[in-house]
Amino acid sequence: MKNSGILIVVSGFSGAGKGTLMKRLLEKYDTYSLSISMTTREPRLGETDGKEYFFVTKEQFEQKITENGLVEHAVYCDNYYGTPRNYVEEQLIKGKDVILEIEIQGALKVKEMFPDALLLFVMPPSIEELRRRLNGRGTETEEVIEKRLQRATEEAEDIEAYEYIVINDDLEVCVDEMHQMILASHNVPARNMKFIENMRNDLKDLSKGE
Ligand code: 5GP
Repeated sequence: MKNSGILIVVSGFSGAGKGTLMKRLLEKYDTYSLSISMTTREPRLGETDGKEYFFVTKEQFEQKITENGLVEHAVYCDNYYGTPRNYVEEQLIKGKDVILEIEIQGALKVKEMFPDALLLFVMPPSIEELRRRLNGRGTETEEVIEKRLQRATEEAEDIEAYEYIVINDDLEVCVDEMHQMILASHNVPARNMKFIENMRNDLKDLSKGE
């Protein structure tokens, strides 16, 4: 019971540093499996198909939806993004904690389908820092950056749907905090009902026997 994996949804404003955070979390702790999403957006400089994303056409993406091959999908800034189903299911069965780094509409859908999912929201320490990180990336046009900031404004309205916020100031501190949040979340009673029910039944049997 203790070893069953949980689904961890990580969202956050574009530029909050989720990518770097996930990379470091996976380097530092080997208990996590990161789901690779499918998207119709163009690869950024340095991104490789099958590593950051599976880059596909709109037709291929829609085919995947038709086949029920995605756990969830959403449109974000004019592109499709979705979570392939097979990998998530395989890893959960193996007892791994599976991380989905997805935006808020997808996160809310996952929460509906998997009420035990843990939802974490990554935030920058300040708005100035967010702007600096978005500009510093140097891979997006001003128009795209503006669109993403607008989405961040909308996303900020729904943060209460998440269990924890994670402030990404110092990377190492943030990675460790996140790992601790996940560890603690494993021990929430609602995520251990089978174990608790078994204990209750054993207790009843024991007290009857006395
Ligand atoms: P980016 O284009 O910056 O890589 O990602 C844009 C947004 O899409 C980010 O907020 C990212 O978390 C989200 N995203 C990435 N993959 C998925 C996915 O599979 N499903 C959903 N709903 N959002 C995703």
